[in-house]
Amino acid sequence: MTTSGTEFVAFRRSLARARRVLARDLPWRNHHDPWAILVSEVMLQQTSVARVLEPWTRFLDAYPTPAALAAAPLDEVLVHWRGLGYPRRARNLRLAALALVERHGGRVPASTSDLLALPGVGAYTAAAVASFAFSQPVTVLDTNVGRVLARAVANRTLDVSEARDLAQRVRGRTASAPFNQSLLDLGAQYCRARARCETCPLARACRWRQEGGPDPAPASAAVSRAQAPFAGSERELRGRILAALEGRPGRGEFEERFAEVEPARLANALAGLARDGLVDATRLRLATN
Ligand code: SF4
Repeated sequence: MTTSGTEFVAFRRSLARARRVLARDLPWRNHHDPWAILVSEVMLQQTSVARVLEPWTRFLDAYPTPAALAAAPLDEVLVHWRGLGYPRRARNLRLAALALVERHGGRVPASTSDLLALPGVGAYTAAAVASFAFSQPVTVLDTNVGRVLARAVANRTLDVSEARDLAQRVRGRTASAPFNQSLLDLGAQYCRARARCETCPLARACRWRQEGGPDPAPASAAVSRAQAPFAGSERELRGRILAALEGRPGRGEFEERFAEVEPARLANALAGLARDGLVDATRLRLATN
């Protein structure tokens, strides 16, 4: 069954009515500084909201402008990134700050094409910044929105272009920022991997809830698969190595700290960090540039 224009309008209205119930009190939402919003969106790419709250404040205290981050050495930036994981994002954010200084006078641009040209900025992040910082008429598509669209709006698996098209048609001409935020809020709090339909404020407007059938979300566009456990993972080892190198240990001290890790595995992890430009493996130091 296809979704009609009338159903789009009905869903949009239901979402607008539920906005206050859905709204999460997130500090970057009260911010109008595009730089603060860009930093929050990069941090949120692969990290939960709860883990971003404190580092986001700390990071912006240290680097309140793109120019401040561009001027900082990478090893210092990596220390401020601590606790967030996926440290390649810190390196890319610093490269983005350098690009902002060089190409945009130290400001975050408003257009999605200029945003997409920045290192580490993909389609979701560009659309989120364009919408939340500049009220551009764009919709966002991430794992939360992907689940909502597949279940509540379509009740079928969607590919990327279908999901993007559907999001724009549901938004219609309403302001993008509150619309996008409500979809994200719905996906993050109710339409999760394990859906909380019993308490969901959109249940009456939701096609999957009303029509039933297999869950269309898991194979749908932008919906991420469950991550492998962190404990014992390469991600954990990489994080431990970066934390150890903050203290500038000698080689003997470093090897002692990782005595329980198989040498080949440790060497591989170090080589990977060096390939990512995060570590100077020869000097056994965090990279500075
Ligand atoms: S009713 Fe269930 S499936 Fe539908 S939007 Fe709410 S949580 Fe998602």
